[in-house]
Amino acid sequence: MRDHALESPGMLTNPMLAHPVTIKKVTWETDDTFTLQFDLGELGESFTFRPGQFNMLYVFGVGEAAISISSDAAKPKSLVHTVRRVGVVTSALSQLKRGDMIGLRGPFGSFWPLDPAIGKDVVIAAGGIGLAPLRPMLYSLFRKRSSFGRIILLYGARSPLDLLYRVELEQWGKKENVEVLVTVDRGDSSWKGYIGVVTSLLSYLKLDARSTVAYVCGPETMMRYTVDELEQRGLAEHQIYLSMERNMKCAVGFCGHCQYGPTFVCKDGPVFILPQVRHLLERKEL
Ligand SMILES: Cc1cc2nc3c(=O)[nH]c(=O)nc-3n(C[C@H](O)[C@H](O)[C@H](O)COP(=O)(O)OP(=O)(O)OC[C@H]3O[C@@H](n4cnc5c(N)ncnc54)[C@H](O)[C@@H]3O)c2cc1C
Repeated sequence: MRDHALESPGMLTNPMLAHPVTIKKVTWETDDTFTLQFDLGELGESFTFRPGQFNMLYVFGVGEAAISISSDAAKPKSLVHTVRRVGVVTSALSQLKRGDMIGLRGPFGSFWPLDPAIGKDVVIAAGGIGLAPLRPMLYSLFRKRSSFGRIILLYGARSPLDLLYRVELEQWGKKENVEVLVTVDRGDSSWKGYIGVVTSLLSYLKLDARSTVAYVCGPETMMRYTVDELEQRGLAEHQIYLSMERNMKCAVGFCGHCQYGPTFVCKDGPVFILPQVRHLLERKEL
């Protein structure tokens, strides 16, 4: 994955310099999660990214947070981030309106590799906000639809009201040879879908293990159980990719905030192949 990071296509010349970008639209997805669409201004002339990469978003006078890009890599000027309000920076981001400016550094990190999935079935397993970094991957898969077999999206959220991208979920499920299975931890009176954890969705599927590649993102417990289940179903460790989340500051491998042994999650990741991070999955957030 290190090579992916170094190849980072749209990396700005000085990665520590934040570029001013303007908020074009704010959409609230759920009670605590919102999507920001940006006007990149001058930066738009050179900005490109790959699915799975992230930017550092800087709220002036408040601080920076690592946020995955959740838009289509084929339309880099229409940059979108989906953010869950959890602390200082994300709360400040949640208060911004159309026309407000923030600073942006990026894109950083490795990306979901598409090549290993060519000619194979693809399982995308997402938990909660984990669907945001996987959405650009789905767009790329749909764009090259004929290169892949089945595309299966397994998505879990806490409740029906916590589901992201609800309209798109329905549209994706109508695409040819695309299966979208959604589950919630707790249903409500209107919910007719599955109830349970994301891994329970795998029991409704028959997978051709030797010809399937999986991409997984979500809370670490969800990723751990999903990996266990996929392996029990016969997927080998080189058929499973994960995106890891660790507290990070510089995003370019200097500060060591996200370092674990020789691994810097910011520049060697966030996307890893399972054997690279099995040991990290077994540890609590650093
Ligand atoms: C590579 C990468 C990609 C990411 N992509 C996204 C993304 O697309 N969208 C998104 O919303 N977030 C994403 N995150 C997580 C995001 O960076 C953190 O949630 C953010 O740094 C929180 O900053 P803050 O200042 O708001 O919170 P802080 O003020 O730093 O934290 C306040 C409190 O919230 C807790 N906290 C921090 N992060 C989380 C969390 N993720 N979940 C629950 N509690 C938390 C802390 O433990 C602390 O108690 C990503 C992180 C990484 C490393």
